[in-house]
Amino acid sequence: MASIIDGKAFAATLRTHLARRIAALRHDENITPALAVVLVGEDPASQVYVRNKAAQTVEVGMRSIEHKLPASTTQEALLELVAALNADAEVDGILVQLPLPDHIDADRVLEAIDPAKDVDGFHPLNAGRLATGGTGLVPCTPLGALMLLKDRLGSLSGLHAVVVGRSNIVGKPMAQLLLREDCTVTIVHSRSRDAAALCRQADILVAAVGRPRMIGADWIKPGATVIDVGINRIALDAGRTKLVGDVDFDVVAPLAAHITPVPGGVGPMTIACLLHNTLTAACRRRGVELPN
Ligand code: NDP
Repeated sequence: MASIIDGKAFAATLRTHLARRIAALRHDENITPALAVVLVGEDPASQVYVRNKAAQTVEVGMRSIEHKLPASTTQEALLELVAALNADAEVDGILVQLPLPDHIDADRVLEAIDPAKDVDGFHPLNAGRLATGGTGLVPCTPLGALMLLKDRLGSLSGLHAVVVGRSNIVGKPMAQLLLREDCTVTIVHSRSRDAAALCRQADILVAAVGRPRMIGADWIKPGATVIDVGINRIALDAGRTKLVGDVDFDVVAPLAAHITPVPGGVGPMTIACLLHNTLTAACRRRGVELPN
């Protein structure tokens, strides 16, 4: 039976460490990093995310600035707000919560964010830096997944990692991060032939698909480490619902060496890494050393 990778506990430790470093930054440099979060519209899941981000930002000792705009906000008005946040010397990180309403071109908005303040790591310049080996800001969810992997396995060098999913926010940056760790990387997507056979070659399997319990026992090499990024809400009886991953945990856990649960695996790492990125951005753009 696999050992469980407890992302909730790891994220709590990471936040404690961040709080200590942020206190040192305030003490030594009189800097309190500030994260601005922009929410457009009333999507209930986004409202919960934004509330959690703000609470955890304050908890670790940073400043949280929230901009809640109505769903009718025009693209021009949103771009003006982003420009104002770019120009504000006190703002270190800018996050525009996705998804945006249909009438707004999300790519244009993300590209308008100053790459030095792009704590989500979605700006093409940061994506390019990740691909070319530079030091940009890295998307939070894959960064969190990588931290869990390195904590559990140590060096990843030479391991065969298979990433299922190729989105710009999870799959592609995950693959780049694993390549940077000297893994041999395979990316599986919806057009891949015999995805299960490809996944059976994996020492490390990362699932970022968005299909409940798609990865079954016949997708796993015994002894593999399995990272489940998927968050899917499924219906139970009597109107109840449940969160499940992309991995069929009950049949995969007996085969794997290590596995992340859903919830409580990769999910909690995302906000912790957002706070980590905000501290990094604050130090880099203000030209001070990152406290240890
Ligand atoms: P996207 O929908 O953007 O991407 C899904 C990817 O899965 C695509 O690349 C798609 O391939 C691939 N895919 C779809 N069906 C199959 C299939 N049958 N076989 C192989 N590949 C397939 O999703 P995201 O990357 O944004 O998110 C993935 C999951 O991670 C979701 O469950 C999401 O909720 C979760 N998530 C969790 C986060 C967290 O933990 N905080 C943060 C972000 C996401 P193709 O490109 O060919 O269409």
